[in-house]
Amino acid sequence: MNNKMRYGVIVGKKKAEVHQKDIPSIKDDEVLINNKTCNICTTDYQQWAGDRMHQPFPMAFGHENSGVVVKVGKEVKNCQEGDHIVVNIYGPCLECDDCRMGKSSVYCKYNQANEKMKNPDENGVYGFYGCGEYQVAKSKHVFKIDKSLPFEEAGFVEPLATVIHGIERLRVKMKEKVLVIGAGTMGLLNAQVARYYGADVIISELIEKKLEAAKELKFDKLINPKKENFDERIKEYLEDEELGAIIIAVGATSAYNQAIQIAPKGCRMLIFAANFPEPDWDLKPNPVHYKLWEIIGTYGCSTRDYQSATTLLSKRYVLAAPLLEEKYPLKDIQKAFEKATMPGMYRVTLEI
Ligand SMILES: [Zn+2]
Ligand SMILES: [Zn+2]
Repeated sequence: MNNKMRYGVIVGKKKAEVHQKDIPSIKDDEVLINNKTCNICTTDYQQWAGDRMHQPFPMAFGHENSGVVVKVGKEVKNCQEGDHIVVNIYGPCLECDDCRMGKSSVYCKYNQANEKMKNPDENGVYGFYGCGEYQVAKSKHVFKIDKSLPFEEAGFVEPLATVIHGIERLRVKMKEKVLVIGAGTMGLLNAQVARYYGADVIISELIEKKLEAAKELKFDKLINPKKENFDERIKEYLEDEELGAIIIAVGATSAYNQAIQIAPKGCRMLIFAANFPEPDWDLKPNPVHYKLWEIIGTYGCSTRDYQSATTLLSKRYVLAAPLLEEKYPLKDIQKAFEKATMPGMYRVTLEI
């Protein structure tokens, strides 16, 4: 092993580069990971595009990565060299009361994610090096994945874990009708998990390509409000029932307002998608009161959600393959970001 490693880094607005640094050493409770792929998440390409100026540069981005364990510390028990793994980037301490209660790791006051996003490391760089050839992680933050699962599909563990967290907060019930607004990556992960929990899922999406992906995942209650009458079509799909829940999976003003226009009495709404700049919303207190609506926010996930997500993907209960676009070698990082930022894209993969 030569002692240098390459890593992808966003150095400024619309500028991603490949830099080099020393391969880090590990402590007794840590593992060294040789990353194979890293998918470009919305939070990554929005920072690249200059829409998240609250995130600092240079950012060694990447958290939808996966790879192989190449070295383990003396105290490590849960994995060994050669295991295929993903890393829980929220880095919860797993010792505080919030962690032990199984809350989203964003509650943990000691989580490493805050630390790495706010303070640069010894190289003056922020982030997790998820798009680096090598990465160090605490063994307690590492999850094994089935070796038959392609690395780029394993990259969906983190987004899927946040989806599982949201679906549990939404309390999806068997057989109830659930509308998912938006069939992007997060929309179709939400739709698949809601279906796994027994919901009868309806999907609304304006982009034809995304409706095709929904079809590929065997969803058949699809609406394109641009092409057909939304009210008529949803009435047909509801078969005299009411919507139990709505998942807003696209951070657009129109999606937020569409939800409150159609939400029936007692509807639960999951606010899955944020956006920058922030969407507007015509929500007023009176309808929430009189219609007994529940507005449920969700962000991040717990360690248990990571565990569940590795299982759903490893067993192919949730399919990620239709949510993948082209792969780019790390050296073409700039091209990969240009592609990821184009409208209508699913996940673009960097091969490390
Ligand atoms: Zn992500
Ligand atoms: Zn904690």
